[in-house]
Amino acid sequence: GSYPWAAGYYDDGDRPQIVTSRFKYEDSHTIDRYHATGGYEGLKKALSMPPEEVHDEVRKSTLLGRGGAGFPAGVKWGFTPQGVWPRYLVVNGDESEPGTYKDRLLMELDPHQLIEGCLIACYAAGLSRCFLYIRGEMALAHERVAKALDDAYAHGYIGTNILGTDFSVDIVLHWGAGAYVVGEETALIESLEGERGMPRLKPPYFPAAIGLYGKPTIVNNVETLSNLPFIALNGSAAYTAIGTETSPGTRMIAVSGHVKRPGVFEIVNGSTTFRDLLYGDEFSQGMRDGRELKAFVPGGGSAPWFLPDQLDISFEGREAGSAGSMLGSGAVMVMDDTTDIPAAALTLVKFYAHESCGKCVPCREGGTWLYRIVERIVAGDGTDADLETIREVGQSICPGEMPHASSERLGLEAVPFPYKMTTICFVGPSAYVPIHSAMTLFPEEFEAIVTKREVRTTIPVTAVPV
Ligand code: NAD
Repeated sequence: GSYPWAAGYYDDGDRPQIVTSRFKYEDSHTIDRYHATGGYEGLKKALSMPPEEVHDEVRKSTLLGRGGAGFPAGVKWGFTPQGVWPRYLVVNGDESEPGTYKDRLLMELDPHQLIEGCLIACYAAGLSRCFLYIRGEMALAHERVAKALDDAYAHGYIGTNILGTDFSVDIVLHWGAGAYVVGEETALIESLEGERGMPRLKPPYFPAAIGLYGKPTIVNNVETLSNLPFIALNGSAAYTAIGTETSPGTRMIAVSGHVKRPGVFEIVNGSTTFRDLLYGDEFSQGMRDGRELKAFVPGGGSAPWFLPDQLDISFEGREAGSAGSMLGSGAVMVMDDTTDIPAAALTLVKFYAHESCGKCVPCREGGTWLYRIVERIVAGDGTDADLETIREVGQSICPGEMPHASSERLGLEAVPFPYKMTTICFVGPSAYVPIHSAMTLFPEEFEAIVTKREVRTTIPVTAVPV
């Protein structure tokens, strides 16, 4: 069904729900509803076990990070160096990848689940303070999490001697100012410290070794942490019984663009293909206005694009990588046959160029160059030399071969993900990926406006809600 208070979320069908099970209740964000639906039972169970055992359960669950990179959470927790205190948990609620809007729902609709997840993580990984960083634009999420924190403190779930044990932890809420790059974990740490949100060099030091205030810091995504109450309460075997061996559990997918029913769906890993997601009755129900699918972005704006012949790929990490893209932050953006491909690429290039923090030259200068050139091309003033310059600038950000999907129509072989990069974080490459995908998969659309100077008849539409 769909719920007016959970706008954009759909749970038709009988798929197992791990993180969205309370979304159907209008008062899902309240502590009363949370208590009535098993809330804080996972924490109680965890506190009855030694921390190492809880950590072990999470390790055995193979819970993969849901921010986009898919790094196993239990393994990451184990990277903190012995004997260095204090250690921190930082919650990355700065979701801002184009097309991604699932962590916002988790914070707005089930803030206690997230808080319980934070407490379990702190207990299991020996972290003494938690910083919860919410994206600046997410006012309702901020309000709901703030209220939930107050209520959880009042009930003795957070603070000193939690539930009468010797486990103590404080959770500090921080509201960001709305910079995309601050979703990158080291830029987020800089921002928390009061500095400009710019990424730190990593490797050699990952936050788990040297993070917030120079101390060991685990940075986990909102959805990752929201899985922990289920794992703590039901055990890792119940979790791995859902999904696939290498990618257990469920994950939230946000579909946007030209489908009949854009929205967020909790799917079982490995059981759903892009075709199911785009055309299935319980998901997005096909293209709007009976149009044809032209292309889709499978994993957030920085993922190389897929063509309709990739529809049967299953939503599970490794397959998309070998087919030339990534599943990233779980955002699928759909373009139908009315889409003006150069214009759609411009929307994304503009976003990433605008969001560059300016620290790395290839991103700061290259992103802006790419944006200006693509804008000129879309306006009908591009030249063949512009297409060459795009590739040269792109190569200065991502040297070597760029991943792309195979295409029978163009006789292309798939080039697997990932790519090489000359910048610290992914913002730089992200400005090149969309234009690279567009030019590789739809060369005729660039030729039409650049070389043949054709007047375009397609309607320039924006595929991306940025
Ligand atoms: P990454 O692979 O560098 O790191 C993933 C996580 O694992 C990090 O927490 C990192 O600290 C940890 N890690 C990796 N190797 C480690 C090691 N050797 N020792 C200790 N810790 C280690 O990826 P990233 O740059 O953090 O994230 C990139 C992803 O972010 C992209 O794939 C993209 O999908 C995603 N993304 C998401 C959003 C969003 O809004 N959700 C926005 C932009 C990008």
